[in-house]
Amino acid sequence: MIEVIGLSKQYGNILAVDNINAKIERGEFVFLVGPSGAGKSTLIKLLVCEERPTSGKIIVAERNIAKLLPSELPYYRRKVGVVFQDFKLLPQKTVYENVAFALEVCDATRAEIEDKVPKILDLVGMLKRRNNLPSELSGGERQRVSIARAMIHNPKILIADEPTGNLDPVNAWEIVDLLERVNNLGTTIIFATHNKSIVDRLKRRVILMKGGKIVSDRIKGGYAI
Ligand code: ADP
Repeated sequence: MIEVIGLSKQYGNILAVDNINAKIERGEFVFLVGPSGAGKSTLIKLLVCEERPTSGKIIVAERNIAKLLPSELPYYRRKVGVVFQDFKLLPQKTVYENVAFALEVCDATRAEIEDKVPKILDLVGMLKRRNNLPSELSGGERQRVSIARAMIHNPKILIADEPTGNLDPVNAWEIVDLLERVNNLGTTIIFATHNKSIVDRLKRRVILMKGGKIVSDRIKGGYAI
């Protein structure tokens, strides 16, 4: 499903990602860990085509996305949902409108929006809060809405960059449960985190980066970050 081959990204004289190779199969749940400055965010930016590699290939669903044309990017980005630590919700829009907006910008019909948005809000447990503004929600609820927005195009891959970083432990675990549920529905998950207790408890694959390199890749083992 995802394969990176000899992937590097250089900023000036800094090699943020240094010749990495990895393969992630369809339906996997993978943690991406490592100290600050290890290259995790850069790798994520490369995977979502926000940055272009200096060298190497990123094969997603059999295409080298490093070679996508600008006109192809919007279509690619619908296949890859992204969730951030700081939610990135539109503050003046309600829960419903925030999720609907992701469809509106893709010219979805009103009927499609009215069909899909309640279903995805129900999946993340936010249907009852559909008319609330982000400022009226807890951090965990805001993250649920941002997961709903990321899932609205039914992406094959969901990338979560420190999704629990701003949450207290109870809310963090609820978000982890939700991401596991999304994974059980068939979506491949890449979960970048500093939270050792989450990584240890879930016993999933752990890719550890340091200095731009993958220094370990362990399947289903606890890992000391
Ligand atoms: P992580 O997400 O693991 O903390 P990053 O990918 O953000 O690591 O950073 C990896 C390295 O690349 C760091 O040394 C960082 O300073 C550098 N870096 C990241 N983005 C840029 C950029 N846009 N310009 C210059 N250097 C960058």
